[in-house]
Amino acid sequence: MTTPHDFALQLTWDLAQESRCCPPDDILFASARSEETRQHLDTCELCRQRLDEGPQEALDELTSILQAPDNLPLTLPAPGQIHAIRRQKSGWGPGTRYYRPPAVLVLETLGTTGVRVAQISGFEIFSWHHDLVLAGNIDGMVETWHTYPVATRDLGPCLENLGNDFLQTVLDQAALADAETRIPPAMVQLFRHMEMETALYFSMPAPWPWPGTRTSRQTGLAGNRKMRAP
Ligand SMILES: [Zn+2]
Repeated sequence: MTTPHDFALQLTWDLAQESRCCPPDDILFASARSEETRQHLDTCELCRQRLDEGPQEALDELTSILQAPDNLPLTLPAPGQIHAIRRQKSGWGPGTRYYRPPAVLVLETLGTTGVRVAQISGFEIFSWHHDLVLAGNIDGMVETWHTYPVATRDLGPCLENLGNDFLQTVLDQAALADAETRIPPAMVQLFRHMEMETALYFSMPAPWPWPGTRTSRQTGLAGNRKMRAP
């Protein structure tokens, strides 16, 4: 039997998918439909429904709420600050998805060109261990289990500074999340998978060797590339 909670979960899951994976109205409702939009429509029932029903105010409100007004000054991101990844970074990508930029909390700076961030989501119905409700004026949660590097130039203006105490709580949770062995409920797993795909699209390729990895000089593989296992 479908309970009211199941129903709310399904509705929110649809909205969450649309806000991360579907094109905005100006692309979906464009008079000349692109090949990418056509391919997306082949696989996305939600967008076929949107075309029938007209633009969705709820989705517009949800995805624009974290976009900073154009007149906010652009400053260098610092730990504890919330920034949205710039709208210009959105676009079509793998899986016939339209990747929409999330907001992120800056955890630390990485050299002069990058920052490590934790992704932010407004869909608290999918919260589980290591999701932290945001302090401050923006509703949502910080995914402390989900941190990755982003190029500094890809971040828009600062939306809010949550301060050092909250930042420290996030860092503590992030350390605990690394040792998590419990398995999330199925819907949370689906949600987290989608969040990680979003991060893969927007993250910065590391310009430095990860700890424990060897350079091509150390391995002697330069000019003699091995086949990678599938
Ligand atoms: Zn769609």
